[in-house]
Amino acid sequence: MGIDISLTPEQQKIQQAAREFTAKYVIPNAGKYDRAGEFPEFLGPEAVKAGIYPPAVPKEYGGPGLDLLSQAIIAEEIGYGCGSFANILCGNMMSAKLVLLAGTEEQKKLYTKPLVEGGYAGFALTEPGSGSDAGSISTQARPDGDEYVLNGSKCFASFCGYATNIVVFASTSPGKGVKGLSAFIVEMEREGMTVASVEHKLGIRSSNSVELVLKNVRVPKDHLIGSEGEGFKYAMKALDTGRAAVGYVAVGVAQRALDEAVKYCKEYIDVNGQPLSAHQSIAFRLADMAIQVEAARQLARRVVRLQESGAPYTTESCMAKTFATDTAMRVCAESVTLLGPYGYSQDGVVEKLMRDIKIFQIFEGSNQIQRLVISRNLLAR
Ligand SMILES: Cc1cc2nc3c(=O)[nH]c(=O)nc-3n(C[C@H](O)[C@H](O)[C@H](O)COP(=O)(O)OP(=O)(O)OC[C@H]3O[C@@H](n4cnc5c(N)ncnc54)[C@H](O)[C@@H]3O)c2cc1C
Repeated sequence: MGIDISLTPEQQKIQQAAREFTAKYVIPNAGKYDRAGEFPEFLGPEAVKAGIYPPAVPKEYGGPGLDLLSQAIIAEEIGYGCGSFANILCGNMMSAKLVLLAGTEEQKKLYTKPLVEGGYAGFALTEPGSGSDAGSISTQARPDGDEYVLNGSKCFASFCGYATNIVVFASTSPGKGVKGLSAFIVEMEREGMTVASVEHKLGIRSSNSVELVLKNVRVPKDHLIGSEGEGFKYAMKALDTGRAAVGYVAVGVAQRALDEAVKYCKEYIDVNGQPLSAHQSIAFRLADMAIQVEAARQLARRVVRLQESGAPYTTESCMAKTFATDTAMRVCAESVTLLGPYGYSQDGVVEKLMRDIKIFQIFEGSNQIQRLVISRNLLAR
């Protein structure tokens, strides 16, 4: 990847910092942590030193205070090195964005403090019987004097084994579906919070995913974010930005898969003594991959421009997430095919790119749910 001339000098500096960070800390470690299924705890503190973490936290709370395009560039650059590491550094911004959007000053300070020190946060919405259908959440929060008492369980909660604070969604009005959902800041060290198990996964294996059990977890009433019953609204707003971020990471992963394929097709000499890339059928496949990756990048960057202008961007965010992740899945699979056995071997990198990218089509709302939102908005016009 070259330097992008459409970026301002400050954004180019951030791109360079993220690229150097990726070359120094991400690429050399990604495979090792993936094979071990271990969480790379060093990542946050090193990224703070590099000035790229926590990307979404403004300067007034001790963060780097980056503009939206810089945040997108960081996600793409780290995604180029490893989808899993990018998910750790950028995906864990979603709950912080929610708190920054709807929280009080005190909540914002409480939530961002561990992040600016290189720590992690979590977003616990999904439950064994509830994900796409958030209205069926069974975790409940009951008021009791100056506190709420939370009971229930959550699954596939990313980074929560290493997070200091997380945002938990619970029903404060059972029977009211999404209108009864509320969002709470919960410190992981509170009594009754248990990491019940760690999920073993096909990809993003270094990105910790856990099952959480909440048993009579007491939080002060000032840990409720906004008002009771507003949790789903905040979750959807945070997901608008989260989906876009998934798209930026996917563009990085796809670019890497394309670059690996180009390199291999130029270097591999076939039985006729020619590089693979000398075959027009192969060169055209590379061209198609490049067209798709650039189209995904531009669709994702359009979301940034809409966000910056203050215009609504839910539909475009869903489009960018769907197109970028579907593209990345296709490009990674094509790269595996072009590299043949070297694509399939765990000694190479592209099999990991393909394993990692699959989840990006599923989480932060599966791509079927994105199509549901896009089509509803289209048909409501
Ligand atoms: C590695 C990983 C990390 C995750 N991290 C988090 C996290 O940090 N926090 C969190 O809260 N959640 C997290 N999740 C959960 C994830 O966001 C959900 O699993 C995902 O949104 C799918 O929802 P679901 O589990 O309810 O599946 P389902 O909705 O049951 O989906 C199953 C299938 O049905 C399809 N489907 C569902 N409804 C429709 C429909 N109406 N029309 C057409 N097709 C449909 C889906 O597209 C999918 O293919 C994570 C999951 C994984 C695997």
